[in-house]
Amino acid sequence: MNFDYDVLLIGGGITGLMAAQKLSDLGLKVALVEKHTTFASGPSTRNEGWLHRGTYHASSIRDRKAAIQVARRCIYGHKQLRRFSPEAVEDPDVLPLALIRREDTLSEVISRWDEADVKYRPISRAEAERIVPDATFENVSGIFQVADVSLNTRILYRKLLALAQKSGCSFYLGSEIEVIDGQAVVMRDQAGVRMTLKASTVVYSSGIGAKEIFRKHHGIDLPIRYWKSHLVVTKRLAHAGIFFLDPHEAAMMHHGDVSIIGFNEDALMCAEPSYDVLKDRAENLHRGICRIFPSWDSRGSLDVACVKVDYVTDLAGARSLNIAISEPVPGHVVVLPGKMTEAPYLTDVLTSYIHDKLDNPAIARRPCDEFPTLEAEATREVA
Ligand SMILES: Cc1cc2nc3c(=O)[nH]c(=O)nc-3n(C[C@H](O)[C@H](O)[C@H](O)COP(=O)(O)OP(=O)(O)OC[C@H]3O[C@@H](n4cnc5c(N)ncnc54)[C@H](O)[C@@H]3O)c2cc1C
Repeated sequence: MNFDYDVLLIGGGITGLMAAQKLSDLGLKVALVEKHTTFASGPSTRNEGWLHRGTYHASSIRDRKAAIQVARRCIYGHKQLRRFSPEAVEDPDVLPLALIRREDTLSEVISRWDEADVKYRPISRAEAERIVPDATFENVSGIFQVADVSLNTRILYRKLLALAQKSGCSFYLGSEIEVIDGQAVVMRDQAGVRMTLKASTVVYSSGIGAKEIFRKHHGIDLPIRYWKSHLVVTKRLAHAGIFFLDPHEAAMMHHGDVSIIGFNEDALMCAEPSYDVLKDRAENLHRGICRIFPSWDSRGSLDVACVKVDYVTDLAGARSLNIAISEPVPGHVVVLPGKMTEAPYLTDVLTSYIHDKLDNPAIARRPCDEFPTLEAEATREVA
């Protein structure tokens, strides 16, 4: 079959845009199809814009080994994004505060931070009160200045898009996939014009849409679950970000004149993705905000819901915060980041995976690339 593209990406959130930029930068012929008329209109934009630096996940994931692994991937993503798009980092010199209520968890958290290489500096309550004067630090047993930052995702996506376009990537916005037949993808744009694109590899960077597309076009029910959680958007409450590490407490990042606040571990498994706000969940979050800012006035604030997905592995019970790359149908690869911050790690692994599948005859093979062949020849000789 003659292919129009080496890679066709379906879905233009952070994963699709970053993969488009990296793969086309590598000289591959890449196209990206997005069903909406704007890029990243789902979770990649309806989130807290928190560029993690391992601080939260090193402490919040129960299993220590998994926590350290996720924290390190966040640090990897954090460093790569700050280098790639420093202009997208908001208030780079303002360090947020991480708070811990439970004294009995302090030493374990610090030991995990040390192992994962999380940056932190313990500070006194008096210093914290100077940094965030309107907050209350009652019943808090640990206060740390940490290195997480807020990210202006629109700037990051704009840069990814511009660089991918420069490297020759084709973009099809507002295009609905109608048929997937082998490596041929038939789509229809908003004017009703049909087009068929053939790609050596189809990558589903479709986030919450991946399950539906696989069910419809491949008859496969991917083991993907949906988790709803809530955010509040309100006028900026402090100069520095401030977040608890304890479950069911608030975590706040700032973007210009507004603060966006989420609630730790409030993700609720749901059957279908929807952005409907659940009143009781939003109220829990409001109470959480008042536990940091007792005089917070909720008037004028906005409740938002969003949905994350995870790929069920053998860890079935807990929500997987890990990245996932799988190829349920040969030539059709599904990619999901646990978090936006993990997209750099995910897309680097994807790039390497795609390169190994497509290879490049213009570049000499390494001895290790020949190894499976050499081994097979040696086995044949012995036989
Ligand atoms: C409330 C909330 C807060 C969060 N906060 C943070 C945070 O602060 N920091 C962080 O690191 N992570 C955060 N996350 C996680 C993060 O937002 C997601 O992991 C990440 O955005 C997923 O990106 P994605 O590109 O894989 O998927 P998505 O953002 O879902 O993008 C998928 C794209 O594919 C398109 N698409 C879907 N189906 C099709 C189709 N059939 N054809 C064509 N296009 C299709 C969609 O329109 C969409 O543009 C948060 C998540 C939630 C829910």
